[in-house]
Amino acid sequence: MDDDRRRPDCPKRMVFGPCGGVRDDGRCEVAEHRCVFLDDPAPAWDAPAAPPVAPPPGSLLDRARTGPVVLTDLTVAPFDPASLRRVVGVLAPVSDGLLVGEHANRPDFPPTLFAAEVRDAGGRPWTTLACRDRNRVVLEQELAGLAAVGVDGVLCVTGDARGPGVRPGVTQVFDLDGTRLAALAGAAGLPVAVPESPAAPPVDRRPARVADKQRAGAQVCVLNHVRTPAEVAAFVAAARSAGATLPFVAAVAVYTDERSARVLQRFPGLHVDDATVEEVLAAPDPRSAGIAAAVAEARALLGVPGVVGVNLSGLASGGGEDDGARVKAEVAAAIREAA
Ligand code: SF4
Repeated sequence: MDDDRRRPDCPKRMVFGPCGGVRDDGRCEVAEHRCVFLDDPAPAWDAPAAPPVAPPPGSLLDRARTGPVVLTDLTVAPFDPASLRRVVGVLAPVSDGLLVGEHANRPDFPPTLFAAEVRDAGGRPWTTLACRDRNRVVLEQELAGLAAVGVDGVLCVTGDARGPGVRPGVTQVFDLDGTRLAALAGAAGLPVAVPESPAAPPVDRRPARVADKQRAGAQVCVLNHVRTPAEVAAFVAAARSAGATLPFVAAVAVYTDERSARVLQRFPGLHVDDATVEEVLAAPDPRSAGIAAAVAEARALLGVPGVVGVNLSGLASGGGEDDGARVKAEVAAAIREAA
């Protein structure tokens, strides 16, 4: 947890970088220079970690021991409890966990309050906690709150940076990075998930990052989108060779129209299958085609050794949160039927 190892030229002040936003050409996600971790790798995690927490009964990690699981992104209208309840009502019956995001351009209720609302509405929350907007003290407060609420787990991320024009002048904190937050979350008694971006540079060093995050306390790794299941298979095998033994949840791109597809394609660090995107958008019924593409991708990913589940990710529909939830529910139900 030695903060003196922070890189002064990393806008996210990371120790255990790089973040998942490194551009394909090696440029920093935030600044106009090369990512500082490409030529000077981060140190290995060398601090003791808390012993892994037993997954709560019936939680995604518990259910993953006996069969494939579905973790569904929760997209709701911000600061709108009624929207949250409607979306959870649609998704909870067909999901093993609901992933609450933390987006730079879409703030919402504090994570603890949001998680309590999801639980009250009948969902099983996995809460994303990002380092962008909170210093260490506030992160500790949220972790204690999430443990008190009884979330099934916390996804510990450094967080994407706020882009130009998004709340200009607001401080970006980055007191910790995702790896150090994972250690803090494990010490708080929470099941810990971490992300990784297999397709972001430095591609050859990303598998070892997963092993490092596991040493810091991670119990499951949620992978960002890559183009093909074969790339996921190669990544998981490389992570195993690097010493990672934890299970993986792989991202499935859910889109059924222009808007929901382009948002995924534009996101830094994510790669989606552009040919499939164009096929779906050109189909006579893009909604059915998008759902079928997502189900097919999920089935292929669940065949990869080490992948125990899928993360249904993306807006799913440009027609609003409720329609997006209906699309994801159809995909989730089809995946479960086939499992
Ligand atoms: S790409 Fe990420 S890790 Fe690399 S220098 Fe930029 S902010 Fe830091």
